[in-house]
Amino acid sequence: MRPAYAHIDLAALRHNYQLAKQFSPNKALAVVKADAYGHGAVQCAQALTDCADGFAVACLEEAIELRSAGIKQPILLLEGFFHADELALCVEHDLWLVIHAHWQIEALTRSPLKQPINCWLKMDSGMHRVGFFLHDFVGAYQRLRQCANVGQVVAMTHLARADDVQSPAASQQCAVFSQAIKQLGVPTSLSNSAAVLAWPQIVSDWTRPGIMLYGSNPLLKPTEVTQQLKPVMSLQSRIIAVRELPEGEAIGYGARFVTQKASRIGVVAMGYADGYPRHAQDGTPMLVEGHRAGLAGRVSMDMLTVDLTDLPQAGVGSAVELWGKHISVDEVAHCADTISYSMLTNIKRVQKNYLNADLKAE
Ligand SMILES: *Cc1c(COP(=O)(O)O)cnc(C)c1O
Repeated sequence: MRPAYAHIDLAALRHNYQLAKQFSPNKALAVVKADAYGHGAVQCAQALTDCADGFAVACLEEAIELRSAGIKQPILLLEGFFHADELALCVEHDLWLVIHAHWQIEALTRSPLKQPINCWLKMDSGMHRVGFFLHDFVGAYQRLRQCANVGQVVAMTHLARADDVQSPAASQQCAVFSQAIKQLGVPTSLSNSAAVLAWPQIVSDWTRPGIMLYGSNPLLKPTEVTQQLKPVMSLQSRIIAVRELPEGEAIGYGARFVTQKASRIGVVAMGYADGYPRHAQDGTPMLVEGHRAGLAGRVSMDMLTVDLTDLPQAGVGSAVELWGKHISVDEVAHCADTISYSMLTNIKRVQKNYLNADLKAE
């Protein structure tokens, strides 16, 4: 079998969730949208069932997958519903909804539902993607409250620049939000991973950590705290061929890399069809036989090439970590001009192998 694997360490996932809880005195929804950022939503949710206060996913389909696997905790749909005909299933599966537009309130009011639905009313406090503007928010809240199909209401907003500890943007958004809901006495939710770690002064009833659960640093710069995160995914493969080449030979598509001296080039069974970023530059690090080595040449669909000139001990069969415990996904993302979120959610074709599945939270 092709030796390309994503090892998923569920004990690391639990550790990271506990870390998020340490920073949020109240409850934390574990965000497992997009198949738990590529890690497998069912396995990740099951690994967190004994400690997570709830889960968040993007849509109904993702939530049903979790319910079908026996997940009992609250599940929030971060984009709410897209059409009124989803509401009956939302009731049947006991899901919570983000409400971000007037038409959703109208649909909720008009639909005959068997049970009230808990709703998270989203404010646009500055990100300008979805949600009610400040001047609309209290009115929307009152309409929701009057709707018989609505159970509990939480007020939420999303921060655009919580990753930048130098910027006042997060506190400004937070101030807008707090001002608008002051009179309502409603539970609140503000913080994503970056805010959980960098803005502990932002206190709300529910946090929504995502990327930090998977061990990636959500901040622009690492801090003492982000260094306590444990990487969950380790993307691994093996060297399947080795070339000895003289100086001046070009490697791979477009001849991007040319040997500067007599070189040994290894071929790794991993490519962009597995989710490894095609835009990774020459020199992007990976771990071969326990030592760092650099990408040499463009990434292909099924293979990539690595400079083994300084690693004579490496050869066909040598283990390669593309990212994981030794090479951080954030470092590779930086070398590929992308972000860990995009790389992790792109993982496909590789075998997923779950570690520490039966270890309960410490
Ligand atoms: C995805 C998402 C999160 C989690 O964000 P991270 O940066 O991964 O922590 C939180 N809140 C909302 C509304 C989201 O869409």
